Amino acid sequence: MLLKSDSFMIYLFGVATLGLVMSMICAMVPRLRLCLGKIYQIYAEYTPVIYLSEDRLTPVSKSRLSLVDKKTLVIDMDETMITTLRKGKYQKKPPSVPHDFEFYLPESDVTFYVYKRPHLDYFLDRVSKWYDLTIFTAGIEIYASPILDFLDRGKGILNRRLYRHDCIDILGLRAKYVSLASTDLSNVLLLDNSRTECSFNAGNAVHIKSYRIDSRDQALINLLPFLDALRFTKDVRSILQRCTRFECLTTLLESVTQKTLRS
Ligand SMILES: [Mg+2]
Repeated sequence: MLLKSDSFMIYLFGVATLGLVMSMICAMVPRLRLCLGKIYQIYAEYTPVIYLSEDRLTPVSKSRLSLVDKKTLVIDMDETMITTLRKGKYQKKPPSVPHDFEFYLPESDVTFYVYKRPHLDYFLDRVSKWYDLTIFTAGIEIYASPILDFLDRGKGILNRRLYRHDCIDILGLRAKYVSLASTDLSNVLLLDNSRTECSFNAGNAVHIKSYRIDSRDQALINLLPFLDALRFTKDVRSILQRCTRFECLTTLLESVTQKTLRS
């Protein structure tokens, strides 16, 4: 009789333990699923690009390149090459990655933290061998100059610069026309995160997504094969006009409407 009671108690204990374990698993599954989902998202978005470390051209490529003119690549600064934050002015919390450079602007009494887009140095080193570089920023000169000096690293590759005062005013919008950098439109292109600026230069623009401070950003290195190929063309518009959406009018109207609503 005593043995039967013991067996029953062990049976009850086993059932209770099993129930407890099952309940814990059921409670953990949504968290586990969430956690696994986040891990998957991180690795699914990470697409490492391996680009040739040397710029070795085959005789055919050299011969092809000799038939076309060297092109001008106009590069935007903010949110294309770098992102800046004002000291102490974080939207939520300070970024997890450290800033690369900081400078004080006495005219505004503000210290800026500069965050370089990942692979920027490598990108500039490569494209400076393929193109004549011009930096065109809508920022004012006293703000942009210290940043560009820092990005140049004493190499003299970012010496051609255009600033806010070089932009053309279109209904209150600052337009960066590539023709201000080179009048030969067959041999000039703009790399910019602003769809409006790209629209103003439809046929001569390559859009890049805005840089939000993130160490996993691959946009610059992903662009290298495309920019490498583009330098072999006789007229960049033969390619860019096929892949640039002509949305100037809609973008312009949207911007003007938003400005009107804000004022
Ligand atoms: Mg920009």
